[in-house]
Amino acid sequence: MTIPKINTADQAWVRKMNRSILLAIFRTQKTLSRAQLAAQTGLNPSTVSKIIHELIQENIIRETVLSQSGTGRPGLMLEINPEGGCALGIEINVDYIELLITDFSANTLWRTNQATKPEAAQDGIMKQVIKLAKEALIFIQSHNCHLLGVGVGVPGLVDVASGLLRVAPNLNWVDIPIRDVLANYFNCPIYVENEANAAALGEYYFGAVRNVKDFIYLSAGIGLGSGIVMGGQLFRGMFGFAGEAGHMTLDTNGELCGCGRRGCWETFVGPRSVLQRVRRSLTLGAESVLFEMVDGNLQNIAFDDVVKAAQNGDKIANYALNEVAFYLGIGIANLLNLFNVEVIVLGGALNKASPVFLKDVERVVLENTLIPVREHLKIIPSAHGADACIMGTIALVLDDILREPALL
Ligand SMILES: [Zn+2]
Repeated sequence: MTIPKINTADQAWVRKMNRSILLAIFRTQKTLSRAQLAAQTGLNPSTVSKIIHELIQENIIRETVLSQSGTGRPGLMLEINPEGGCALGIEINVDYIELLITDFSANTLWRTNQATKPEAAQDGIMKQVIKLAKEALIFIQSHNCHLLGVGVGVPGLVDVASGLLRVAPNLNWVDIPIRDVLANYFNCPIYVENEANAAALGEYYFGAVRNVKDFIYLSAGIGLGSGIVMGGQLFRGMFGFAGEAGHMTLDTNGELCGCGRRGCWETFVGPRSVLQRVRRSLTLGAESVLFEMVDGNLQNIAFDDVVKAAQNGDKIANYALNEVAFYLGIGIANLLNLFNVEVIVLGGALNKASPVFLKDVERVVLENTLIPVREHLKIIPSAHGADACIMGTIALVLDDILREPALL
């Protein structure tokens, strides 16, 4: 039998795979010895040593304290080098812009945010982004940071290959070439991603699901966003538009959605719709503590107020959240029947309402999923809360370096 000769391209590919396999381990385990890396990956110890040598030369990995465990000669432990470079995250949200610079271990180095007006034209918002990005650049240059990449999270559909924000349904933004605009200022990779997709990745790298390979992140801001992670990688679809679970149609004759269609899932569970229904009930004369909480100005009712009122036994607030729990449960059940993930992570307003309705959501999910699908299911709150998207933008940068290779 003749053994086929591996050509140079194959060798380069194998080297890249081995490097990715080694780096991916550091996502969940802080320090490891060379021997542990070899044992856990099944790679030849000499291959591990060779790749680690390269990664140390590149400042991505560093040697740290001596390993105390085991018999034999103690070896130096290895860890991600926080000084290996920095990442800039930019969150462009409905009513604010947030920027964060972290080191390679996601420790905060610099942070700023600024309010925006939801009605501001998209050109005005981008000017504000550039102004803040220039401030970030001054920090990066004055501290001699090696900028590994810029991650951007936006509340809309993104063509990830070109970094173009195609449409933001709740903001009436269309076709903003975010990567091209930022490329005028940054000479490094720029990753533009939907905010819920970014947040899902942030929970995977630094948050609630570090050891979970298959999960769905659901988050309510104005509408309802979701990010699907399968096998440790974002499920993006052909152009990056996958995961728009909030726009699954539940009722073709339902309420009008921000996307222009009717009866999307987010019109049942998104805060904007919930608040509209609460205001409608109050206008029709229903009694509620919410009146006093906002001094009679119904426009000032926020989703947090509804949660607080429900916790104090208010009937209108409880009815509203029961309805959210029911439809949230139905939608999650549909997603589970489709994707059979291990964990559902609730972020944004859903996280805040969890103490009130999580048990009801779980009950509806159990009643509406097939038995094998719901076994071992966990529905848990997000670890990052209001920081979900901005931490996700940092994860976008690190993901390009630490991502586990897909199975062949
Ligand atoms: Zn919709």
